[in-house]
Amino acid sequence: MGRLDGKVALISGGARGQGATEGRMFVREGAAVVLGDVLDDQGKKVEAEIRANGGKATYVHLDVTREADWRAAVATAVQAYGKLNVLVNNAGILFRSKIEETSEADWDRIMAVNVKGVFLGTKCAIPAMRQAGGGSIINISSTAGLVGAPGGTAAYTATKGAVRLFTKSTAVQHAKEGIRCNSVHPGPIATDMIKDVLENKAQWEQRLRRLPMGRVGTPEDVAYGVIYLASDESSYMTGSELVIDGGTTAE
Ligand code: NAD
Repeated sequence: MGRLDGKVALISGGARGQGATEGRMFVREGAAVVLGDVLDDQGKKVEAEIRANGGKATYVHLDVTREADWRAAVATAVQAYGKLNVLVNNAGILFRSKIEETSEADWDRIMAVNVKGVFLGTKCAIPAMRQAGGGSIINISSTAGLVGAPGGTAAYTATKGAVRLFTKSTAVQHAKEGIRCNSVHPGPIATDMIKDVLENKAQWEQRLRRLPMGRVGTPEDVAYGVIYLASDESSYMTGSELVIDGGTTAE
């Protein structure tokens, strides 16, 4: 028995990193997944790999800043697998620059992907979840959505803080319909997003000093939490925050 048996999930940013890992692990737990991303070649490879192992996966081109793409992605889930139970708003971008060095265009871009993307995904998924009798929306925020960052990532921090509270409004507005919504707050996770930091020995050693567990997290560390929130095991949990950060924000 899988923990997600019979569930249909849509995961944004599913072509690589945490989203791809969640896709593979969701399928192992019995779900069918629709993976959406702008990296079409990589996304199709993940789809092919899951199918080759006997799993149900469909890749769709999804730019999370475009409402039409979201509508099509939700429609694909319903057409291919009959319904939509779970949405993981995982797609995101990061750049590091101090406030005075951040251009208006940079600000607008990160807000569009990390915040508008979550809003549009939620907006488009809710009718399908209502049709399915309820659902679970999981928004990938960050420890940067809980505390400020000294390293010059104020715009990113603003987006992840917005995701945290958008999650709570979604939760309270849709609780009576059985649509749950929670945020996940990972610490540093070894993916392409922070490759530059991981590959810079001096920078990484400095970062490690602020990590109580003394190691970077893996995509699997986060995916296990996301599976819990996607499953019925978390039925009484909504509007909540799951922190998976090796103790970073505990001190
Ligand atoms: P990643 O860069 O490997 O994955 C992000 C994915 O989002 C990529 O596949 C990318 O193509 C996709 N994406 C970017 N813009 C998009 C758009 N407009 N439309 C659709 N897809 C788009 O990094 P990751 O670590 O897997 O990131 C996943 C999530 O976790 C992000 O929201 C990120 O902010 C968050 N997060 C990451 C870390 C970390 O240290 N890696 C820590 C905390 C939170």
